[in-house]
Amino acid sequence: MKITEIKTMLVAPRWLFVKVLTNEGICGLGEALGDKAETIATAIRELSRYLVGKDPCLIEHHWQVMYRGAFWRGGPVLNAAISGVEQALWDILGKSLNVPVYGLLGGKCRNKIRVYAGINYNDEENIENVLNKGLTAVKFSPFNQLKLVDSYEKIKEAVRRLRRVRQIVGEKVDIMLDFHGRVSPAMATVACEEFAPYHPFFIEEPCLPENIECMARIARKVNIPIATGERLFTRFGFREVLEKGAASILQPDLSVCGGIMEGKKIAAMGESYYVAIAPHCPYGPILTAASLQLDACIPNFLIQEYSSLGEELFKEPFIIKEGYIEVPKKPGLGIELNEEILAKRPYKPHDVPRWYHEDGSFADW
Ligand SMILES: [Mg+2]
Repeated sequence: MKITEIKTMLVAPRWLFVKVLTNEGICGLGEALGDKAETIATAIRELSRYLVGKDPCLIEHHWQVMYRGAFWRGGPVLNAAISGVEQALWDILGKSLNVPVYGLLGGKCRNKIRVYAGINYNDEENIENVLNKGLTAVKFSPFNQLKLVDSYEKIKEAVRRLRRVRQIVGEKVDIMLDFHGRVSPAMATVACEEFAPYHPFFIEEPCLPENIECMARIARKVNIPIATGERLFTRFGFREVLEKGAASILQPDLSVCGGIMEGKKIAAMGESYYVAIAPHCPYGPILTAASLQLDACIPNFLIQEYSSLGEELFKEPFIIKEGYIEVPKKPGLGIELNEEILAKRPYKPHDVPRWYHEDGSFADW
């Protein structure tokens, strides 16, 4: 089998789908990071110069060539391009052998996958809607713009948001708090003390992940598990987090971390530090599908984020039952895309929101 063409599809709201075609009629789907999508689509086009004409089944070898062969390694753009292509190669291999991807990665070690979604803390109806889907875990960001050292009133406001969400969802639903890298280590430590009585499941990106030692200091001081990883890529990016004990939960995003097998390697590294895996996935349904394949076959899986289950886009969207999605059984990524629908979802160029403090200076979103 040979790769004949690689297509990228930009889809609203911010999704970048990858389709790898072969001379045997089997095609594979993948999803790359949707932010900076046009730049990443160009990077995929550059990778296709190497990939077209090659055997799609040599996934590890192609990964090595795409990653190391670039000489300039790293960065979200190159790793997102590799990730989208890598998922599609697994989809092809699975379909060609008539097995799900997890069946090629050691087989499933669970029957169902616990999932969670984001909520709007300000919108009770939205929270009720999410709970009505049967979810048993939800996530939100309790902070907006926050200076390196800010008024205690901002922390009190965040506590009021958490208390209100706790009242609405009750004691049995897990609440995850995403600090989104908006909070400095000093403010994060103070905030976690105030949040602890409401028993958050974990705190995500308590500070920016550029200085892992700072995150490790927070992790040593607070009594809530720390999660991080959405902005890290490859096993090299996660190494220091584990070595410094900066997090109890790793959140590789398979659309940027290097793909499904890189996620498996990161999970194995985490296993040796008794660290759990909760893949990041706020993008499209192909990424959800790729993530479920990994979740099925890693022993230290914790919980899966999702934003889309493939409603409209998949011939058979994923279904949540009592907080879980059943491990998919179909070959490859186990999905069939309704490509006609894509035309109805034209992509509009976008940037992530840009925030400013009241004095006009830039604030992390
Ligand atoms: Mg996050």
